Amino acid sequence: MLFGILTVGISNIISIYPAQIFRDAIDTVIESLRVVKAFEGTPLAERFTTLLVKSFLFFGLSVLVLALVKGVFTFLMRQTIIVMSRRIEFDLKNEIFNKYQALDISFYKQNKVGDIMNRISEDVSAIRMYIGPAIMYTVNLIVLFVVVIYTMFSINAELSWYTLAPLPVMSVLIYYVSDLMNKKSMIKQAQLSRIFSHAQERFSGIRVVKAYNQVNESEKEFQKECDDFLDKSMDLVKVNSLFHPIIILLPALSTLITIYIGGLNVIDGEITYGNIAEFVIYINMLTWPMASLGWVTSLVQRAAASQERVNEFLKIKPSIDYSGKKDVPLKGKITFKNVSYTYPESGIKALDNVSFEINQGETLGVIGRTGSGKSTIALLLLRVIDPDEGEILIDDVPLADLDIQKFRSKVGYVPQEVFLFSDTIKNNIAFGDVIRESSQSEIEEAAKMASVHKNIMGFTNQYETRVGERGVTLSGGQKQRVSIARALLKKPDVLLLDDCLSAVDTETEDEILGHLTQLMKGKSGVVIAHRVSSIKNAAHIIVLDDGQVVEHGNHQKLMDQGGLYFDFYQKQLVSET
Ligand code: ATP
Ligand code: MG
Repeated sequence: MLFGILTVGISNIISIYPAQIFRDAIDTVIESLRVVKAFEGTPLAERFTTLLVKSFLFFGLSVLVLALVKGVFTFLMRQTIIVMSRRIEFDLKNEIFNKYQALDISFYKQNKVGDIMNRISEDVSAIRMYIGPAIMYTVNLIVLFVVVIYTMFSINAELSWYTLAPLPVMSVLIYYVSDLMNKKSMIKQAQLSRIFSHAQERFSGIRVVKAYNQVNESEKEFQKECDDFLDKSMDLVKVNSLFHPIIILLPALSTLITIYIGGLNVIDGEITYGNIAEFVIYINMLTWPMASLGWVTSLVQRAAASQERVNEFLKIKPSIDYSGKKDVPLKGKITFKNVSYTYPESGIKALDNVSFEINQGETLGVIGRTGSGKSTIALLLLRVIDPDEGEILIDDVPLADLDIQKFRSKVGYVPQEVFLFSDTIKNNIAFGDVIRESSQSEIEEAAKMASVHKNIMGFTNQYETRVGERGVTLSGGQKQRVSIARALLKKPDVLLLDDCLSAVDTETEDEILGHLTQLMKGKSGVVIAHRVSSIKNAAHIIVLDDGQVVEHGNHQKLMDQGGLYFDFYQKQLVSET
């Protein structure tokens, strides 16, 4: 930046000389012509004319050389200051992205994805405009001002006052116009986002749109949004069209004044013709920087607002303290001691005084009605959320004391809501495994264990098949199994399945469960399910109802009790036959 400021200075100081060369050139021509006229008809006139041509060649060459040198410095000025601003933009984007990733899910519940995206795109751009162009033009303006105005006043103070008078008016007008332009363009941009999200939603929900005969309605709505966009764009165009007249009109007024007042001064013999030409050039030099003053001011204001918004996000502290550093080999004893959790957003008490213990090598089955708190157990175990009361111990060590990243890397988690990236099936399975870089055969092995290998081999591109956008849409059950394969590939020490067999038939379920029993021999697991069939072989089962453990024991014991579990079993047996 310092180097940039230096080059701005030099390039401006250089730019003052051509104006003076023009002055000298014009004065020389006028003087020489007088002499030539006086000696008309004599050989002396001839000699004067050739001398004049020669000196012109010299003037012309000097202007050319100066322009080249100025060009080099202008290039350097952009290369330094603008490049610096791009680098800062790069750093800032990374900083914000990392911050986002470090924040816990409550942040994502409180802020809309659109807002989160805006911080990283538009706000960062606004800040870049400040540290790049705004600083560059400001430094430029200051240096040019000092140099040009000093020169002007040293020639003729009175003429300088008159000449400069219209320019501040231009700055102020440009400020208002740019401000208005920014506002209008923000409105236009917001409408554009609405068009995009409207279209995106309709396309991703195209099946529902068609099934409900909403194609025409959807088209009408789209048309309406587009009309609105047109109006807002025209608003912007109207304001935009004020910009150029202002930077043409007011400097033109300055030029007019210079020629008139300057002309009077020449008649009085106070200045020369050359000075008028010189002043006109100075006006031209000052025009853009003075106009940019208004523009820069509105840039700075926008940047300040953006920086404030970005800071707001950067200052957020994760509500969970992940400073635990212990790294114990995971044997797999998991203890929940009187754990309660209330979702702060909804005030719903999802878990109420839940206790259980899983010994190394055992599997816990969790079953319960929808909304009974099953998934909340999974989130607590992964420390996506922390319990309000009670304690979670892993191998008798408080979960909070463990190095969370190392712990998570040892847990194979299959979430209830499958999320696949729009990438190949292979990369989706290998998602959690960038470090080990699993081989194709390992990936296929995991897919076989999840009983999805055969389906994958049925696709034309097999493991290279792209999922989702611009790719094959997998069925619900296929997605679930890809998601299971992803968890198995990690060769986890603890497996955590959240209702991940709900979309597969009981036969495939049995097959997968059989594989898992083999694979997880000696390792602990938590299997959350709706169906009794998924968990009946678990060593220990808890039945949740409204956040409380209402029954626990193994399958046989629970059946004998004839309670909620027994009910589930009866109803599901009926529905399956
Ligand atoms: P399902 O079988 O339908 O998956 P579940 O047993 O997994 O249900 P949980 O997801 O643990 O149920 O939810 C327990 C309760 O907490 C529910 O009443 C739910 O409305 C509430 N809840 C769950 N997630 C949130 C959240 N992110 N914010 C607020 N409340 C939530
Ligand atoms: Mg759930």
